[in-house]
Amino acid sequence: MQTLERCCAQAICLQERTMETTLVLIKPGGVNRRLIGEIIRRIEARDLTVVGLKLVRPNRALVEEHYAEHRGKGFFDDVVNYLTSGRVVAMAVEGVNAIQAVRTMMGATNPLEATPGSVRGDLALSIDDNLTHSSSDADAAAREVKLWFSEGLPK
Ligand code: ATP
Ligand code: MG
Repeated sequence: MQTLERCCAQAICLQERTMETTLVLIKPGGVNRRLIGEIIRRIEARDLTVVGLKLVRPNRALVEEHYAEHRGKGFFDDVVNYLTSGRVVAMAVEGVNAIQAVRTMMGATNPLEATPGSVRGDLALSIDDNLTHSSSDADAAAREVKLWFSEGLPK
């Protein structure tokens, strides 16, 4: 027991605090339901900083590139059709351990499994309309921020 407690304490101490930038999208359903303000409010209330922000109507090529890891899966066409069906808010969000923090805030992919208190757990019901995207890891975050903000982030 003592050893376990020591290990746990050490694990907490050793948890890295890394300044990260992650990509967040508010999908067409979130924009149509006028949830832009609510979602950004939650991000900023968490002490994360919006360092890039725009409203775009993404084309198919951009969305297919964004979801390239899912090409060939049964839901690929549906998810691409959904993302290209209307306006999307693209945001670069910066903060300590921002990638994991934002993923946790957004909740599980399937809103039925998302924890109450998360965006999907509070505001969504369907996996086809789960309101937001957020980068899954550091490599994805770097790739996705570059893809959606090819012009670079404002200084
Ligand atoms: P996102 O990438 O949009 O943030 P995620 O990382 O939680 O979501 P992914 O596995 O990357 O989940 O799936 C991308 C999107 O594809 C999901 O947001 C969802 O809309 C759709 N999707 C994923 N899995 C399924 C599934 N089993 N059935 C239907 N749609 C799915
Ligand atoms: Mg994903």
